[in-house]
Amino acid sequence: MKIDRIEVLVTDLTGRIQRLGSSGPYDTGARGSLLGKPILVRIYADGVVGNGQIRPIAPSHFLPDTGASMLAAIRDIYAPRLIGKSIFDTSAISAMLANSLPGNVQATAAIDHALHDAMGKALGQPVYNLLGGRCYDRIPLEWSVSLGLTPDDMVAECRRAVEEFGVTTLCLKAGHPGGWKYDVANFKAVRKAFGEDVTIGIDPNTGWTVSTSLRVINALRDDRLDYLEQPVAKGDHKGLARIRDAAGGVPIMADESLMTLDDAISLSDKVDVFCIKLYKVGGMHKARQIAAIAEAAHVLVNVGGLAAFSQLEAAAGIHFHTSLHPKKVMPAGEFLFGLGVVGPDPLVPEPTYAIEDGHVRPSSLPGLGVNLDEKAIAYLTLVREVITA
Ligand SMILES: [Mg+2]
Repeated sequence: MKIDRIEVLVTDLTGRIQRLGSSGPYDTGARGSLLGKPILVRIYADGVVGNGQIRPIAPSHFLPDTGASMLAAIRDIYAPRLIGKSIFDTSAISAMLANSLPGNVQATAAIDHALHDAMGKALGQPVYNLLGGRCYDRIPLEWSVSLGLTPDDMVAECRRAVEEFGVTTLCLKAGHPGGWKYDVANFKAVRKAFGEDVTIGIDPNTGWTVSTSLRVINALRDDRLDYLEQPVAKGDHKGLARIRDAAGGVPIMADESLMTLDDAISLSDKVDVFCIKLYKVGGMHKARQIAAIAEAAHVLVNVGGLAAFSQLEAAAGIHFHTSLHPKKVMPAGEFLFGLGVVGPDPLVPEPTYAIEDGHVRPSSLPGLGVNLDEKAIAYLTLVREVITA
């Protein structure tokens, strides 16, 4: 199954994502602008078409990729080198991508997902059967709660997650501009509103220091902080270890710090959980390798990712999570909540994946299980590049 054609498309969004984070405001911009719009990769091989989609998350985020940089990387570097390769040669392709242009993880992930979709379709198998098989009939979901300026703001979003969508794991964004005491007040308000039956973690997205982290952990001793995700700077692996040593059993999760296999080795004795987002590690091939390091180190995996407006991006997270044994994984996955928060995928009028009673069911359809609407693609495409032999 040789690759004979690759298309790269920037597709418009019919909605807009605006969030506040500790690193600044995040905004996908107005309709028609290229910034923050999803990149769709379509890989053609002997009559099969594999699709992968990733939305660049710069600016005000920890990855440098923009739509323009992803488009150029795929059009100019990756795609010409993929023409003529077999869709099944994922190990060789992974090495080729890393050697020809290292570090462009979001472009790499879009290609990796399109390859897995193509492989599944060619074999008539769901992607999870290429990764390790099916460990779940339905996956519990986590909701990432936007940083709110008041406790009432955060409780209102949590109420939507819990009461409208049935989600029972909440991850509260933190790094309030007023300081850590506001983050503590937000957590206490949410714990008081939802009680002990809801799992509640905090994610300051690198917005704290080691000492701030320890103050917050101590301030929440009686409120059951269920986990703390990436409190300190991306490069501060030792800081994560210091926090974990003093956390009194509160699980510490690495997110921004964990990008590569080298990171996974370095962090394997410093944290309790690896947050694996496919878009930051370069797709499912690398994600499986990081999950293997986690298992060897007795570190749990949390499968993250926003997947706002994207059935394809969510599908990749679902298939990856489905293939991981429940004892090796945190109780809930994050990768679908974006479709609940911000709205449906404009390219998929009949979605395969939806939040049902706080869970999602993996699809046994071939590939990623997502049917794109060709008319919607034609209507919403802002830029289209075609690479052939
Ligand atoms: Mg995070």
